[in-house]
Amino acid sequence: MLSRRDAAIRLDISLQMATHHGLPARLSESELRAIEQDPPAWLVQSRAARTGKKPVWVRLECVVCGYGETARPKKWWPAWDHLVCDDHWPSEAPEPAAGSTRHEVAGIGSRFVALVDERE
Ligand SMILES: [Zn+2]
Repeated sequence: MLSRRDAAIRLDISLQMATHHGLPARLSESELRAIEQDPPAWLVQSRAARTGKKPVWVRLECVVCGYGETARPKKWWPAWDHLVCDDHWPSEAPEPAAGSTRHEVAGIGSRFVALVDERE
């Protein structure tokens, strides 16, 4: 069984929209596949309206341990070079390229620090 959130991620819609349009709290893989294969009008519309805009969900993954999660992107997120969990040592992350300065932005997703390497 999949949760409504899993289904929203797969359909690339927000959780609010999934709830609003009556997606059940839990649904089976075959139910979800039926929706994907024969999407209801609201889903077709929402996808058409979103063409070229930012993704609804992004995959966050730690470059050190591989821990990953799916989250709603935030406007304030920087364009990062790497993501690491906030409990790793900075030295565990890949070295910044020569001549670039690394900035850290904490609070990405539930546990990530974004490493932003700025070239001079
Ligand atoms: Zn990690």
